[in-house]
Amino acid sequence: MPHIVVADPIHPDGIERLSTAPGVTLDHPGNARNETLAERLRGADGLIVRGTRVDEALLAHADRLRVVCRHGVGYDLVDVPVLTRRGIALMITPEANAASVAEHALMLMLTLARNLGPVSAGVRRGEWRVQGQSGTFELGGRRVLVIGFGRIGTRVARLCAAFGMQVLVYDPYIPAGTIRGAGYDAVADRDAGLAQADIVTLHVPASDRTRGMVDAAFLARMKPGALLVNTARGTLVDEDALETALRSRHLGGAGLDVLSVEPMTKPLPMLALDNLVVTPHVAASTAEGLRRMAWDSAGNVVDFLAGRIDRDAVVNVEVLPPPR
Ligand code: NAD
Repeated sequence: MPHIVVADPIHPDGIERLSTAPGVTLDHPGNARNETLAERLRGADGLIVRGTRVDEALLAHADRLRVVCRHGVGYDLVDVPVLTRRGIALMITPEANAASVAEHALMLMLTLARNLGPVSAGVRRGEWRVQGQSGTFELGGRRVLVIGFGRIGTRVARLCAAFGMQVLVYDPYIPAGTIRGAGYDAVADRDAGLAQADIVTLHVPASDRTRGMVDAAFLARMKPGALLVNTARGTLVDEDALETALRSRHLGGAGLDVLSVEPMTKPLPMLALDNLVVTPHVAASTAEGLRRMAWDSAGNVVDFLAGRIDRDAVVNVEVLPPPR
């Protein structure tokens, strides 16, 4: 009888899907035994995590674990080589939050373009003709560079096109013909794209190769007054270099949903800048996104343990038997 542990709170529909799955026993934050998570993994076949770090120490007592599902798509808190070495599959919920994150990226673009933070704060102070409205602009007619043309980047491109923007895409792992076929301009040279774009939006995964990719040189190549949007991962951006570019007004603004260290423990000095908008890693956390991530996490693990494996949702496919 498969035993599944849910490490973190998830949407009740996900818990419901697990509790009604035939033959499954469940341990979740609402009914967790008074033991550490590592001890609770003794005898567990499946594990669902949201913000919990999965490493060798956590897996010390996991004697039967076959599958871990990360609620979401980023798995930078999971030690994938350790799972792979132990033959444990890592799954994600690939499509569950893409629409929410894409809309959030557009929201950050609009917030910056319309100077929403300072203007809204001015009205709350009782001002009607708030300073700073004259510098606002329309997204339509502007040029956006979408970096990373995956699940989220493709949706952002589509939304930007619907706003009448010219969409440039940089993704060296996607054939240029695929990007052109979708109706966008494929950029072969990232730096050339940076120099042309009014807005640059990041949709690449965190990895050793992408860490710090937005450094001083990257920012210097961006057009004066351009905007940077990051809903991907904070580690992509050198925050000191970003602060310098925002203070000098070389960048017109930045909209971030993610920071290099999360959760933020003390306010960063750059938060005093009026051309910076920060949201606390909530791009995916709409009612729809949370429900879908929980629902899909539950389905992934239950189906995996029943031998119905969705290979598209498995990160380390090398642990699976070859496809027939
Ligand atoms: P995805 O894997 O579908 O797409 C990533 C794309 O980036 C791929 O097409 C890949 O070819 C491309 N890529 C990789 N390295 C690149 C590089 N150096 N330059 C250009 N392109 C590169 O991923 P996704 O589901 O679209 O997610 C994108 C990012 O969004 C991830 O970092 C993920 O962690 C993050 N994310 C954030 C939130 C949030 O709440 N803020 C929620 C979901 C996902």
